[in-house]
Order: sequence, then structure tokens, then C-alpha cells
Amino acid sequence: MIPDWRSERRHMVERQLRKRGIDDARVLDAMLTIPREEFVPHDVRVSSYQDEPLQIGQGQTISQPYMTAFMAQLLQLTGTETVLDVGGGSGYHAAVLGKMAAHVISIEIIPSLARLAEENLRRTGLGGNITVVCGDGSKGWPECAPYGGISVAAAAPEIPEALLAQLGDFARLVIPVGDKGDQELRVIERVNGVIYERVATHCRFVPLRGVAGWR
Ligand code: SAH
Repeated sequence: MIPDWRSERRHMVERQLRKRGIDDARVLDAMLTIPREEFVPHDVRVSSYQDEPLQIGQGQTISQPYMTAFMAQLLQLTGTETVLDVGGGSGYHAAVLGKMAAHVISIEIIPSLARLAEENLRRTGLGGNITVVCGDGSKGWPECAPYGGISVAAAAPEIPEALLAQLGDFARLVIPVGDKGDQELRVIERVNGVIYERVATHCRFVPLRGVAGWR
């Protein structure tokens, strides 16, 4: 039997997001309309709307829906921003950000996953304002800086200097920082040039690679 994806999506939004405090209408709307099942591998497709991360190959995962929503909400986007998405993976998180910002640069270090993200975004018709690039996102992507938001989906030992340098004024950087097994999700905000930092929650992400990651 083919699952009723729309109804699964509605349940996910109600039970996993709204009930847990996600109230940004643009985040909820994005996650209600984007077909997550198109971003997960065929063998785990029935689990597309489960309350957990899923394997997407190369030892990497597509984040739990709640974490994607929570991170997107923390960015407080208005729709005019250029956003940097570090750790493109399946392209799902980029698709969510694409609904909430003017332009998204999604950077992925593993070439086959960068191709996967691009292919998923193309097939779903959601890639119109998303540019997928393959490279080391721990260095950011200076070509399009400064960014109105930066979202990092892999855990860093410390906040990469390059990402701070590419963060625009009145913009937020959301990034898991800690050791490989356990991290805190930090929100860094630049206001009139001054950097403010707070911890939003505890979390567990795959390690960030690259020059400012775990080598
Ligand atoms: N946002 C993704 C989840 C990706 S998991 C999604 O919605 O599916 C984290 C991803 O970060 C992995 O694909 C991993 O390959 C990638 N990654 C790790 N270090 C990186 C780096 N330095 N630059 C870019 N991508 C990186």
C-alpha cells in the first residue's frame, strides 16, 4: 500500500513540531508542503516522517524533522536573506530554508551527496532559489557573503572563524558545538557588529569535517 504522505506530513507537523513549540508559520508551512519522502533513500522511505534522523549513505544522516524545524526557526528569517546551509546532505534542510529565504547556498563536502542534494531538489522542483556547491563548508562560502543566516548541520569542535566572518549584521548562525558524541546547539547573533551567543539545546550531529572541523 502506498503511504498517504500528505497525512503523514500533517501528523508530523502537529505531533513533532507544533506540540513541541515550533510556532513560526513559515517553518510549519514549509514542512507541511515539502515532500520529505523524496529526500530519503528508497529503503527507508516508509520512515520518512518518523521522529528520528535517517541514514542517507556515506555514514551521513538526514536530521530529525524537529531539529530541522527548530534550527530553521532559530534563524528568524523574513524572506529577503541569502542563507548559507553547511552540510547539504540530502538537500531537505536546504529545501526548507529555500521556502523561507530569497536564496540558499547549500555546501556539501562529499561529492556524491552534493549530487544527491542537487538531484533531489531538481526532481521536486524546489531548487529554483538554491545553489548546491561541493566543498569545505567549514570555510564558509565567501563568494556570496555576508549571509542573512548560516545553518550548520554537522558538529564543530569550535565555531569556525570563517563562518563568523561571513555572518551579516542582524543575522544568526546556528551551529552544534562540542565533542563528536554530544554537543550544544549554539545561536550566534551579530547586532550592530557585536556578537551575542547562547545555547538553544543539547544535540547530537555527525562530525563536521574540513579545516575547521574534525579531520
Ligand atoms: N542538512 C542535511 C543533513 C546532513 S548531515 C539534510 O537535510 O539531509 C551533515 C552533512 O554535513 C553530511 O552530509 C556531511 O557530509 C556534511 N559535512 C560534514 N562536514 C562538512 C564540511 N566541512 N563542509 C560541508 N559539508 C560537510
